[in-house]
Amino acid sequence: MVKCVIEHCERDAKTRGYCGRHYQSLNKHGDPLYVEKSKLNKIYKENDVYIMEITNRKKEVFKVKISEECIPQIQERKWYIIIPKKGFPYVASSKYMGLDSKYNTKTVYLHRYLTNAKDDDYVDHKNHDSLDYRMDNLIIKTNQENSLNRKGANSNNKSTGVRNVSHIPVYKNRRYVVQIRVGGNKFMDRFETLEEASKVAEEMREKYYSKYL
Ligand SMILES: [Zn+2]
Repeated sequence: MVKCVIEHCERDAKTRGYCGRHYQSLNKHGDPLYVEKSKLNKIYKENDVYIMEITNRKKEVFKVKISEECIPQIQERKWYIIIPKKGFPYVASSKYMGLDSKYNTKTVYLHRYLTNAKDDDYVDHKNHDSLDYRMDNLIIKTNQENSLNRKGANSNNKSTGVRNVSHIPVYKNRRYVVQIRVGGNKFMDRFETLEEASKVAEEMREKYYSKYL
């Protein structure tokens, strides 16, 4: 029997490659991965640390440490645990890419999602706890070799601390770059001030992601 085309879904395919549940969501919400607000991961505070609880198919419960300021962003998606054969468990989500896209879904990694890392950036957990996703525990290591290959054009990217906004000093004007992925496409624009960039980033998130809230 053929399995559902959605990554990590183990159910049998019934209609157009989807299992019954994913096909129903596609019909009803235009997104097979649509998640009702009440079914998002549970978040609570324990010993002064915010915890996102994730239960896997074997009913094992994982406690993922997160930062309070990231809660709205985290609640835009439903997250699950991946335990690789080698290496440490990590948190990811599946994003629906549309019916005409080559792959139906794309894996979104929580550490990259929270840090807005570029494709060739490497994100690591400072304390080596792979389920500690608090912002002060995540560090971005820029791939130096790739940066040199690009002749330094992007090697000075700095995080501004504002979601979806980075700072690129090499641009004379409009040094603040807003980057947001919408349905597989990347929106990108540059602005002179951090204020302007932050405002646009917020508007974009509101416009394109509020349906998941
Ligand atoms: Zn499915």
